[in-house]
Amino acid sequence: MKIICIGRNYTKHIEELENEKPENPVIFLKPDSAILLKNNPFVIPPFSNDVHYEVEVLVKINRLGKFIDKKFAHKYYNEIGLGIDFTARDLQGQLKSKGLPWEKSKAFDGSAVISEFFPKTNYNLDTIGFQLYKNNELVQDGDSSHMLWKIDEIIAYVSQFFTLKIGDVIFTGTPAGVGKVNPGDVLLGKLENEEIIKVNIK
Ligand code: ZN
Repeated sequence: MKIICIGRNYTKHIEELENEKPENPVIFLKPDSAILLKNNPFVIPPFSNDVHYEVEVLVKINRLGKFIDKKFAHKYYNEIGLGIDFTARDLQGQLKSKGLPWEKSKAFDGSAVISEFFPKTNYNLDTIGFQLYKNNELVQDGDSSHMLWKIDEIIAYVSQFFTLKIGDVIFTGTPAGVGKVNPGDVLLGKLENEEIIKVNIK
C-alpha cells in the first residue's frame, strides 16, 4: 500500500507557515515503512530538533482506480480515519529553501500515525470535526468544511498521477495549530469527539 498526503489544504495552516496558496493540491507520498506500529511510541529522530504534529482526516481506498471522475470518487472509499503526519519542520525548511524533495522530512520511519477506520456513513463528510490534544490541551481543532479541496476532488486529482489501489490511505491535510513535540508529550486525536489516537512521544 501507499500513503498519499495532501499539503496546504486549509487556509489558516497555509498562513501560519507563510506558504503560498497553491493552484493545485500539493501532493507527497510516504512509504509503508513510515507507519508507526500500533501502540508504539513516536521516537523523535536524531536528525531533527523540530518535529511537528499535523492531525489529518484519513480516507482508505477500497477500489482500484485511475483517472477517477470527481462525481464517481465517492465509490472508491467506504471508510474514514484519523492520522498524524509527523514532520521534521527544520529539515523540511532546509529542503524547501533549496527546492529539494521533502521526503527526508516527511516520510521517515514512524512519521505516519494511522487510526482504525470507521464507516463513512457514520459522518457528514462535508463537516467532519476533528481535534488534536497535546498533554490534554487542545492544539488543533479542524473541520473538513474548511478544506480547499474536498475528499472527492482530492481523489480525482491524485488519481491522474497515481493509480489508487485497495488499501491505499490518503492524508487530506492539516488545519492550523501545528507545533513541536517533545519527549514525554502525549498526543490524543479525536474524530467527532471520539478518541481514536493516542501517541506517547519519546
Ligand atoms: Zn500533513
